[in-house]
Amino acid sequence: MRTPIIAGNWKMFKTVTEALEYTTRFRELVKNIQGVEKVIAPPFTALHMVSQLLIETGISLAAQNMNEFDNGAYTGEISPVMLKEIGCQYVIIGHSERRALYGETDEGVNRKLKAALKHQITPIMCIGESLAQREKGETFTLIDTQLKKGLADLTKEQVSKIVIAYEPVWAIGTGRTATPEQAEEVHAYIRQWLKANLGNEIADLIRIQYGGSVKPDNIAGLMAKPNIDGALVGGASLDAANFARIVGFRQ
Ligand code: PEP
Repeated sequence: MRTPIIAGNWKMFKTVTEALEYTTRFRELVKNIQGVEKVIAPPFTALHMVSQLLIETGISLAAQNMNEFDNGAYTGEISPVMLKEIGCQYVIIGHSERRALYGETDEGVNRKLKAALKHQITPIMCIGESLAQREKGETFTLIDTQLKKGLADLTKEQVSKIVIAYEPVWAIGTGRTATPEQAEEVHAYIRQWLKANLGNEIADLIRIQYGGSVKPDNIAGLMAKPNIDGALVGGASLDAANFARIVGFRQ
């Protein structure tokens, strides 16, 4: 059985003060919610302080990005060593905003996945097609390429530790969610790809999150699908009560 994992990606929102207020409230709201792994991904500046508030809460901490190197002359970058030290268990890699706005490539995603795994940080690897690609019928070819290049040269054991987030770009921040059927179609395809390339055992272990305008009123329908193992939530994770409702989708 795969434990569902629901992660809130705050993007470039919240000062440290706001992050601490949110976390204090959120940990109270979700303290009785069991059977779902809860993750929050504040901006870099708030990670350390937030990590102090998450001790013994069962809520995990994620970074939204990282550099592939341990240290060096990379002005403005943050390394996996730094993230590990402050208690990040997860890191989002290859979010579509990073791919579109900062030129991240599948090859770069691959290097970052390896770096995160080397430091025992679990990567949440984002993949997904744009609207133009979907309309041209290129969704599955793109997913193939992103998986093939993103996971290149990783051992089965390494891949088994990764979380995959399927995030159709046309559904991110647009209010236009994929229907549970549309999402499940691609999730099942990803699961099948993993089976064909890594075997049934590994494929059955890997959690595949859906991301794209997830809200309290659509999470249950998505989570009812057999290959949807969680959600990566942007906008709707910014309000603690809203995100707590998403995490508590079973209640
Ligand atoms: C995201 O940024 O990963 C995301 C899914 O955003 P939103 O929930 O706002 O669509």
